[in-house]
Amino acid sequence: MPEGDTIFRTARSLGRALAGRPVTGFRSVFPTLTRFHEDTPLTGQFIDSVDARGKWLLIHFSGGLTLATHMLMNGSWHIYHPGQRWQKPRFHMRIVLENADYIAVGFKVPVAEMHTAQSLARDRRIPQPSTDVLSGEFNFEEAVSRVRAHANEAIGDVLLDQKVIAGVGNVFKSEVCFVTGVHPFALVAALTPEQIHAVVATAQKLVAANVLEDSGDRILTYRGQQRRTTHSSDPSECLWVYGRPGEPCRRCAEPVRRRLQGPDARVTFWCPRCQPMPGGVDVDG
Ligand SMILES: [Zn+2]
Repeated sequence: MPEGDTIFRTARSLGRALAGRPVTGFRSVFPTLTRFHEDTPLTGQFIDSVDARGKWLLIHFSGGLTLATHMLMNGSWHIYHPGQRWQKPRFHMRIVLENADYIAVGFKVPVAEMHTAQSLARDRRIPQPSTDVLSGEFNFEEAVSRVRAHANEAIGDVLLDQKVIAGVGNVFKSEVCFVTGVHPFALVAALTPEQIHAVVATAQKLVAANVLEDSGDRILTYRGQQRRTTHSSDPSECLWVYGRPGEPCRRCAEPVRRRLQGPDARVTFWCPRCQPMPGGVDVDG
């Protein structure tokens, strides 16, 4: 599942390919978008910018409208040169945006909507920039307050709530908890103010560190990139606990535990020694 860092990189690549150039072609299998395009043609308009808000990707048109797409589990955007062979089957195509140099294809994008500036600001599903760890407008203190307001929920669940902090996905959830020594099943109410600060600061730092690496003006299509939270450059050692059940903790050698967590039963990993449960009784791993 794409996390905030993946969507951010996709937005950056789409921005490099699309922004500042006139749209020469638009197609979609979404009837609402097609109808919209017939009434207010997107061809001829410029794309001003492309940005990421949590797991939403926003394409802003010069006419003032914004195409908002959500990737959910399987959606992705690819960028091709005209005539280049697509990496996914045509019947997975949902949206195509073209300019003279590039073709951006949204494959299996499950949610796509046109917004005005007003409807975008009003839509509570789409995170505002102040809640997104990758936005320059991210407000740290407000994020800490929102975490605190979920006192009776486990910190692992709260980290996945995109209305609290946008951009943290399931991999970073486990990694942030490990790096801060916080048990993912600990209730927010059981954490110290220092721990909550550390969790929010680490979430911002780890997600941001994973979008710094693609350099120059390279245009990447959407691909899973190796995430890294440790300092190791060895691909087999790039995460602390995620995906390592039963393997020794990289800090203390205790076996890493795994358990499904929260209403959506998302998989969670932790080290029972480095991340003690407040009160001392661990959950079964
Ligand atoms: Zn450990």
